[in-house]
Amino acid sequence: MARNYVKEARKRVGPKRQRIRPVIERLAVEHADAAIALTFRSPLELLVSVMLSAQTTDVNVNRVTATLFAKYRAPEDYLAVPQEELERDIFATGFYRQKAKSLRGTMRLLLEEFDGEVPRTLEELVRLPGVARKTANVVSAELGQAQGIVVDTHVRRLSQRLAFTRQDDPVKIERDLVRLVPREDWARFPHLLIWHGRRVCDARRPRCEDCVLVDLCPSSRV
Ligand code: SF4
Repeated sequence: MARNYVKEARKRVGPKRQRIRPVIERLAVEHADAAIALTFRSPLELLVSVMLSAQTTDVNVNRVTATLFAKYRAPEDYLAVPQEELERDIFATGFYRQKAKSLRGTMRLLLEEFDGEVPRTLEELVRLPGVARKTANVVSAELGQAQGIVVDTHVRRLSQRLAFTRQDDPVKIERDLVRLVPREDWARFPHLLIWHGRRVCDARRPRCEDCVLVDLCPSSRV
């Protein structure tokens, strides 16, 4: 019975290939301000901010980096202080021991292999200590070189609700999305879903009655 209902709902909204462009267009109008919420002025500050954002909020990271970036301006600066000092400086972002270790390892590799510059390719970025695929995707997308699609908790939930994927694993979800989303939208697509997830398509109580995707979403409750 439940399966029939899902099938019916999918049939009602049409195939995902036909829905993807209108979904992106409508969300782009609805959330014209959708963008990364981290504050940074350089690729290095972007990389550090994204690394610090694991397991905490962007607001919290911005609070810490407001003073952090005045003190640490170049990769060398992260290595010029004892690890304990860096730990104290990023303490409020949580998991500060691991994060300080990752930051120092990353800075060392940037200096040794990348002339102190942040690389742009996913393959190079994931070589940096503490930089997983999601971090690498965020950094490369923000630097204008998206090579994949960021999948966080909102992107996962909305992609499933919109029937863009049947997968649960972020890597497999990303694989489905890169086949579906036009390449020129890889960078902004996750921001649109994240903002829609925060503002309308809440995890526990989606506000379908206020949603611009209601006729394109098989999970709509109205
Ligand atoms: S119609 Fe409902 S479930 Fe679908 S995207 Fe909108 S809020 Fe989410």
